[in-house]
Amino acid sequence: MPEICVTIGRTRHKMVLAEHRALAERGATLVELRLDWISRQADLSRLLQNRPTPVVVTCRRPDDGGRWRGSEDDRRTLLRQAIVSGAEYVDLEEDIAGAIPRFGKTKRIVSHHDFVQTPDDLEAIHARMCKLDPDVVKLVTTANSPQDNVRLLHLVKNAVVPTVAFCMGDLGVVSRILCGKFGAPFTYATFSQDRVLAPGQLSFEEMKRIYHFEKIGPQTPVYGVLGDPIGHSLSPLLHNLAFHHERIDACYVPMRVPADEFADTLRAYEFLGVQGYSVTIPHKQAALRFANLADESSVEIGAANTLFKDPQGKWRASNTDYAAALESILIGLAQKGVKSLSGQRVLLLGAGGAARAIGLAVMKSQGVLTVTNRTKARGKTLADELGCQFVTWENRGASACDVLVNCTPVGMSPNVDDTPYAQHWMHDGLVVFDTVYNPENTLLLKEAREHGCSVVSGLEMFVRQAAAQFKRFTGREAPLDVMRETLRRRISPVRYQLPDDPEEAS
Ligand code: NAP
Repeated sequence: MPEICVTIGRTRHKMVLAEHRALAERGATLVELRLDWISRQADLSRLLQNRPTPVVVTCRRPDDGGRWRGSEDDRRTLLRQAIVSGAEYVDLEEDIAGAIPRFGKTKRIVSHHDFVQTPDDLEAIHARMCKLDPDVVKLVTTANSPQDNVRLLHLVKNAVVPTVAFCMGDLGVVSRILCGKFGAPFTYATFSQDRVLAPGQLSFEEMKRIYHFEKIGPQTPVYGVLGDPIGHSLSPLLHNLAFHHERIDACYVPMRVPADEFADTLRAYEFLGVQGYSVTIPHKQAALRFANLADESSVEIGAANTLFKDPQGKWRASNTDYAAALESILIGLAQKGVKSLSGQRVLLLGAGGAARAIGLAVMKSQGVLTVTNRTKARGKTLADELGCQFVTWENRGASACDVLVNCTPVGMSPNVDDTPYAQHWMHDGLVVFDTVYNPENTLLLKEAREHGCSVVSGLEMFVRQAAAQFKRFTGREAPLDVMRETLRRRISPVRYQLPDDPEEAS
């Protein structure tokens, strides 16, 4: 079973001890003590006495990403003392591992870091390190391409000596989460999101309670969300929660992929055992081109937000935004007893990707659509494509409608005091659907509610498109209510705590 090694980097002994205790209480089984962070002379007996978990003792020089300010002799003395004191592991950089011999039961991690790149001679470096009497080889590089993850994971899989290898940087998150699947004895995480010590590092809570790192095995199917940027995506939270709740062995990973590397990355990621992807900006058109087969909704919209493998191993494209948006509007209409969009006058604010998918859904449901957009030419083009009316942005308040749909980011956090539609333009009986989901309760929805309108939040659409992806990935219904409540709590202004068990979220 792979473990999560949690790094503690604090300047005072007291804080190191407090974090170590707190981590043990939260279920940590291995902790790295970074002696180079301690501002005074490190007192090993104080740090190791009655330690609540096994430890890795590490003391990094600035060149290796550390903060050690003392002499090299003093640093090596400290590492030797850690070995004599019986620390479970000591981390020895490649250049000093030969000079510090094995002693007692302390295991040797021989490490190498590259803060610039993932070098071409990776295998040669690894072979060199294997000759330095390691119990574990630790090889950490910087990802300049998503494919660097695959090179590191290949190394882990083929290694004879247990090897922890992954990439730093936000392109490298994939290998941090998946190294255990390929045989790494542990990965590294940080004490909390506020204490990231290396680029791309995840917190212990995220590794344990979102990604369930310790449960990812060689056979665990992988799913992911492709985008650029991807750091703030809430899809990993929702999908991993759904897998865990339904007791499905699967892991869902955020995958940053630059636009020009899309197809090459997907081909390289076959090695990871990926069975399905959520797809977001800027890859939705490329996903459609990549697929072997595409469903009607994605072909009509010209964009796919989902790729999944069918039993024959073919990639299928789908667009779950389309149906999720339609369902959300119907929820709003149902609040006033209307069962279908047919004949309903819909005013669509915006002319981007979301507006295009929703506009098409409205037209196909026989709604009477009008598009408005800040940039006239773009709005007019979409209206012409959809075969509907267009009004200028300045005149949007004068356009009579039964349903208002906001497909612009106006009102999205942090600009929560903005709204794309004035309250005095609203009327009783209007249905207002805001695709913005962060915050859930946008100013547009607050004002609409005050006015007695029926409202639907973008949260509903977001959860529903994810649930539809889950169904395509697994063939099973997603736990919609649990997903909705978790997302609601995650984006609420009160700081969200990850549940110990996702069933708590129900
Ligand atoms: P997009 O392709 O970039 O289009 C953005 C649209 O918003 C464009 O029409 C743009 O007008 C308009 N816009 C941007 N800033 C504006 C401003 N300050 N004032 C007026 N109009 C403005 O983005 P998209 O993919 O369509 O996404 C749009 C929004 O939909 C997102 O921000 C997100 O909140 C929401 N969304 C929600 C879900 C969900 O599941 N709930 C899914 C997808 C999208 P110009 O043409 O003038 O630039």
